[in-house]
Amino acid sequence: SCPVNAITAGDNTFKFLRDLATPNKLVITQMAPAVRVAIGEAFGFEPGTNVEKKIASGLRKLGVDYVFDTTWAADLTIMEEATEFQHRLEKHLAGDKDVKLPILTSCCPAWVKFIEQNYADMLDVPSSVKSPMQIFATVAKDLWAKDKGIPRDRLISVAIMPCVAKKYESSRPEFSRGMNYDVDYVITTRELIKIFEDSGINLSEIEDEEIDSIMGEYTGGGIIFGRTGGVIEAATRMTVEKMTGQKLEKVEFTELRGFDGFRSCDIEVNGLKLRIGVAHGLREAAKMLDKIRSGEEFYHAIEIMACTGGCVGGGGQPKAKKRVETLKQRAEGLNNIDSSLTLRVSNENPHVQAIYDKYLDYPMSHKAHELLHTKYFVRVKNPKK
Ligand code: SF4
Repeated sequence: SCPVNAITAGDNTFKFLRDLATPNKLVITQMAPAVRVAIGEAFGFEPGTNVEKKIASGLRKLGVDYVFDTTWAADLTIMEEATEFQHRLEKHLAGDKDVKLPILTSCCPAWVKFIEQNYADMLDVPSSVKSPMQIFATVAKDLWAKDKGIPRDRLISVAIMPCVAKKYESSRPEFSRGMNYDVDYVITTRELIKIFEDSGINLSEIEDEEIDSIMGEYTGGGIIFGRTGGVIEAATRMTVEKMTGQKLEKVEFTELRGFDGFRSCDIEVNGLKLRIGVAHGLREAAKMLDKIRSGEEFYHAIEIMACTGGCVGGGGQPKAKKRVETLKQRAEGLNNIDSSLTLRVSNENPHVQAIYDKYLDYPMSHKAHELLHTKYFVRVKNPKK
């Protein structure tokens, strides 16, 4: 059973269309990495084709004021997450018993709720960094909008996600100011397909348009978030560079890739073998956590994604007849974008660096903690209403 009751999550299409038609509202969108390699399937493109520029064009035709990209915030997430990992690792190696490893990537809300409900004794495992969707929305409302003089209640922040669980995540009270949520609502890939179709927008027939700067530019580390093993690979790229003080000659950690539900590998850095685990699908996640809990396995860092294949296989993505083959094609689409880019490690993103220079000082600073980190809670499964 889905930890976030995804099947009952509401459709926000009407809200989106209503806000676009309301003159005093300013609507901004962000789109997750996995959306761009799947949405094209509904318009005749092969799975894995990157249609991000057509999505930008289509959203502007609908009336969206600014089209941004969650991938930009994925780079910011890695800045915090890799730094947190390095701090925890250094303390662990120095013998600090209060510091627990492994550290877990925390951008999948279904997985986060699963650990809150089922492994309450392990809540010190997830990184405290918010997901890219929530980081984007915090920066958009608390920094970008303030800079532009846009009042919080005039700005409508919409997240286009491959994921139904993101609807639940956006409604968690810790991500709101009173009744004003950082993400006003989430539209899934399938819902956006329907909106485009109903509005007569065919992605195969429209021109490409650029995503808006500055919260639109990303590195290869950010884009691979959308497939299994991608978040931990992005974090490993930056961690290894920081630990060795040297630029990586080869940024691909192919040992972290693949489609096995539960996989482990060792990555050598400065004479230390970093043990890393990756799981996708909650059954595989439970197997991994049980081994960690019993002491049968030790990891320095782990990544868990609730959906098979990671976000490319999210519950809000187009349904595929040849499911595994399609998910692999979508994942390969993200790898192709990554390898086509000049900047492939998240800390190389100049617009992320600029956010630190202007507002946040440095990763894990007091200001960064206030804006970009969160807390987890013990949750009871299916509480009586
Ligand atoms: Fe959502 Fe699935 Fe991605 Fe988790 S793995 S964030 S549930 S799409």
